[in-house]
Amino acid sequence: MVLNTTELKLYLFSRGLKISESANNAWQEFFPGPLTLGEYASTSGVCIRTSDDIYINAPVSEYFATKSEALLVYEDQFFIEIRRERFIVFPIPVPKYHDQLYKDQNLVIPYTELGVTHTDRIRIQPIGGCVWDCLFCDSWTTNYSKKPLQGLQEVIEIAINDQLLPARHVLISGGTPYPEDISWLENIYMKIATSSRIPVDVMVAAWGDYSFISHLKEWGVNAVSINIEVFNEERAKKIIPQKAELTRKYYLDLIEKAVNVFGIGSVQSLLVVGETIENVKSTLLGVEALANRGCMPILSPFRPGPKTKLKDKNPVSYDDMQRLYFESLKICENSGSGVKLGPRCIPCMHNTITFPDNTDFYISLNQDLTQKPKL
Ligand code: SF4
Repeated sequence: MVLNTTELKLYLFSRGLKISESANNAWQEFFPGPLTLGEYASTSGVCIRTSDDIYINAPVSEYFATKSEALLVYEDQFFIEIRRERFIVFPIPVPKYHDQLYKDQNLVIPYTELGVTHTDRIRIQPIGGCVWDCLFCDSWTTNYSKKPLQGLQEVIEIAINDQLLPARHVLISGGTPYPEDISWLENIYMKIATSSRIPVDVMVAAWGDYSFISHLKEWGVNAVSINIEVFNEERAKKIIPQKAELTRKYYLDLIEKAVNVFGIGSVQSLLVVGETIENVKSTLLGVEALANRGCMPILSPFRPGPKTKLKDKNPVSYDDMQRLYFESLKICENSGSGVKLGPRCIPCMHNTITFPDNTDFYISLNQDLTQKPKL
């Protein structure tokens, strides 16, 4: 039995969501565009918010979702029906700009190849594709390209002004560059961070020299993500082979440096969780290593995206998520660093195993994203 919205979120991550005809028809009537753009494995689901402000990115296109007992229905309002329980939910549409084109002298592409908004944040991707090929990711299947700065700046402005889904912060993400493109990418970080009128976070594509962390701070970047993803080094060699060559020590030292520069509450690191990736015990060691360094661990539920090499594998189980969540809370508390599970932005929790706890560590939709937590 699913009793509350916390359990509903974990259920949807592990079992997916089916869409009824009534919900599909209502969605088409209320919002121009599809239910999801399905542009990236970990954000490919349908975004919804519950009446107690839990944001959920519910998998709909993975194989397991077809067998889900959870059904999105519309009858005067949207709700999820599951095992005779009903949960009122508010759908979060795709941005209105989803069908607009960016044009310059050399290029005509959809704006969504430059950036995509989910809930309140636009994720821009200066590098299309990726030189690495992590098994849970589908970015490497896209052709490698460097995106024009003008287009990246334009899509941020368009996203801020979007009538359906206005963005209030930016994440610079995207694929890992070839070594010869690193200085180009650093220049993009600088240009975006110094010109954006909304806060900018960077998901760092790590490389040898740590000095760029200080530069990000000088350019006004609000927060950074340095993702470990797989903590066990043997599993990492299998799942994220190129990234694993940089070693866990390299990442942990980089994270420590970033916390010194940005402070607690402004550095996070994502761990992809689920038995297909690594076991619970090993993920929890990762949570501990991060929390002890003052870095927010982010529990990212593994979903076997249909365009990834792991598309036939099991998603993370409900029981593993429940254990990981509650044990991680304890680990963070015991670390004494004041850190909690990330992300701090409540709408950005949609594809993570995190929940608001009514403290000022977490930032709701109408609060300042640059505020530091009181530790
Ligand atoms: S480095 Fe990042 S973008 Fe590239 S394949 Fe791995 S997860 Fe995907």
